[in-house]
Order: sequence, then C-alpha cells, then structure tokens
Amino acid sequence: MKKQIAILGSTGSIGTQALQVIKEHPDQYEAYALTANNRVEDLINQAREFKPEVVVIANEDKYRQLKEALADLPIKVYAGSDALCQIVQESEVDMVLTAMVGYAGLRPTLKAIQAHKTIALANKETLVVAGDLVSRLALANGTPILPVDSEHSAVFQCLVGEADNAVEKIILTASGGPFRTYSIKQLATVTKEQALHHPNWHMGAKITIDSATMMNKGFEVIEARWLFGVEPSQIEVVVHPQSVIHSMVQFTDGVVKAQLGMPDMRIPIQYAFSYPDRLHASFPRLDFARCMELTFEQPDQTRFRNLSLAYEALRQGGNMPCIVNAANEVCVHAFLEDRVSFLGMSDIIARTMQRATFVTHPDYEDYVRTDTEARRIANELLGTKHKG
Ligand code: NAD
Ligand code: MG
Repeated sequence: MKKQIAILGSTGSIGTQALQVIKEHPDQYEAYALTANNRVEDLINQAREFKPEVVVIANEDKYRQLKEALADLPIKVYAGSDALCQIVQESEVDMVLTAMVGYAGLRPTLKAIQAHKTIALANKETLVVAGDLVSRLALANGTPILPVDSEHSAVFQCLVGEADNAVEKIILTASGGPFRTYSIKQLATVTKEQALHHPNWHMGAKITIDSATMMNKGFEVIEARWLFGVEPSQIEVVVHPQSVIHSMVQFTDGVVKAQLGMPDMRIPIQYAFSYPDRLHASFPRLDFARCMELTFEQPDQTRFRNLSLAYEALRQGGNMPCIVNAANEVCVHAFLEDRVSFLGMSDIIARTMQRATFVTHPDYEDYVRTDTEARRIANELLGTKHKG
C-alpha cells in the first residue's frame, strides 16, 4: 500500500521538493492531492505528471482554467480555501504535508488533525499562531505531527531512541542569513533584492525575508516549544553560518547530540514521509575531505530585533505570538513592495504587540479575531509611517 499524501502548497519550494521525494520512491508514496494558491500553470503540469486524485486551486478565479486544462483526465478539480479543508479529511489520505505559507495554513491543519491524518509540518506559522491549540488537539486525537523544518527534523532525529530521557536544552542553529555581518547602519538601507539572496538555501520569498531578519529563527524557537514540549528558557539559538549542523539536543548528563547533513530540504521531507524508517536517497552527501570549517557565533538580538520580539512573544504567551505573526506577514508583504524599510519592520511589529488586544487563553475564534486586528493595526502603522 502506497502512502497517500496530500500536499498543501505543491507548487512552492517545499512542495516541489516533496514531489521529487515522491519521484525517488514511486513504490512508497503517491500524491493524492496537489494544491496551489495562484500558480495554475505549474499545478496543471504537476497534475499531468503525478496524476493525483484531486487538485485544488485556492484562488477561485483560476478554477475554470484548471478544470478545462485537466478535462481529459479523471482528476477531481476544486477551488477555494474550504476545499482545502475538505480534501485533507478524505478517507484515502494518510498524510498531509502542510507546505503553504503563513496563517492560511492553520485551518486546514486543524481539520487534518481532527481527521487523524499524520501531519508533515512545514508551515511553521501554524504553530507560531496557535501552538497551544494545535498541540492539544493533536494529543487529544492521537495525531502525530512530524517536523519538516530542517532544525526541528534534526532535533526530532536526535531524540529518537531517547524515550523519556530528559532534555536540558535544544540548540537551534541559524545560518545568520545574508546580513549576518552587517552593522545596524548597513541594515538600515538594505534592499529586498539583497534580502532575497540567501547564502545557503533557496526558499519561497516570505521565509527568505524572515531568514534575513531572523524572524524565521524566532518562529523556529516557538515551533520547537510546541513540538518538543520544552520551556522557552530551554531553547537556545546559535549562529552557524555553514548550515552543516542542522540543530542539537543537550541532555541532562551534558551530552550534546547533533544532526549533520547537506543543506537540502529533501532530506527532512523524506524523513517525515518515511519515519520511523530511513530510505535510501540519491541526494548529495557531505564530503569531509573538502575543507569543512564549522564555526559558531552568538546571535545579535540588537541588530536582529525580530529574534528578541519572538522570544518576548513566547514568554508573554496567549495570543501574543499570533499578533507577531500577523504583523510580520503584513510587514514582509510591505517590504517586498518597498513600503517599509528592513529595520522598520521590527518597529511596526513591536508597536502592534503593544496595541493589539491581549488574550491570555485564546480559543480558535480568538486567534481569528487577533489575526484580523493585528493585521489592521500593522497596516495602519505602515500607512502612518508611509505618509510621514
Ligand atoms: P513558497 O512560497 O515557495 O510556496 C508556497 C506554496 O503555498 C505555493 O504552492 C503556494 O501556491 C501555496 N500557497 C500560498 N499561499 C496560499 C494560500 N493562502 N492558500 C493556499 N495555498 C497557498 O513557500 P515555501 O518556501 O515552500 O514555504 C512553505 C512553508 O514551509 C512556509 O511556512 C515556510 O516557513 C516553511 N518552510 C520552508 C522551507 C524552505 O526551504 N522553503 C524550510 C522550512 C520551512
Ligand atoms: Mg528552518
């Protein structure tokens, strides 16, 4: 029986690499559902190649084009975000890979968890926004959440075989992004073109900007808190520019376990698919014969203020990480349209954190309200700033 995988966001960076993993192991995995937001041409090509049962385009304006292009194939074609929530629940689906961007991942992930579908989680924003709710629901439904993010996959792999052995701390590695060595003065004038040029990874635009500001690492701290049930004080970030060590776990006897490998997202994607097994992969190997220097630095939370804002949000708890996520999505969007400066993004996020309504024990409806409110505030702040 091949594992039937629904890929939310199959046309993106993670989605296309997931399809490469499926192609590596045609005897193991099948794409049951492919979905995209806008890139209908890519989705049509993927559907023709992988012959899924279902395709969904979130943007309903593209439905006709998709339907007509696939008319000669027995593929069900749907549109809209409700359709995403429905297809993840279909009885044939074994696993849902959440590879879409941002807050939009929350609702389909909750539906998939309720339908007992194993989650391969790439969409970290889901855990940033509603980590408490998502992990409680996963526990109550006995639904495994397997990490795809390379750092969390590394931690997960370090924890295999450790059963109930207590973790002292989790050490997340960060490449430091393209601006690791920049001064505050230099950061003030960096452009989106510079920010979109990540030294070690080729990723979607949103996470590439988040990596440049280190909000991505802040989000990964929050993600680790919920995936591994550790306290914020037990999660440390260390800058490791070579991205060879993908993350580490320190146990109560002081032993540190690390996972190393090429910076290739197909590896953690495949591990989430195959866990607890490992499958042969043809991907490139690390070569220690080539001069390989591994270095470590402390992250600078003054130059990369987003990292401290994310820690602060996690410490405050409640809906604060949801507020930060919404403000950050608005800021990244604005930065990509040259409506806010690189450092201006942290200002807006910090001020949104002060202004948005704080909820100590949010439920799903609270998160929906918070997301809307924080987006409105961040947009207002951008507007004011823009005019001034
Ligand atoms: P991407 O922009 O390359 O792709 C996003 C995909 O999601 C596309 O297929 C797009 O059509 C779809 N999508 C976007 N918005 C949507 C919406 N509102 N409704 C439905 N579909 C939508 O992004 P990516 O780099 O592949 O990242 C995807 C997720 O994985 C993000 O949460 C990111 O943080 C996480 N992640 C990515 C990487 C990486 O190497 N790219 C690594 C770790 C984690
Ligand atoms: Mg990562």
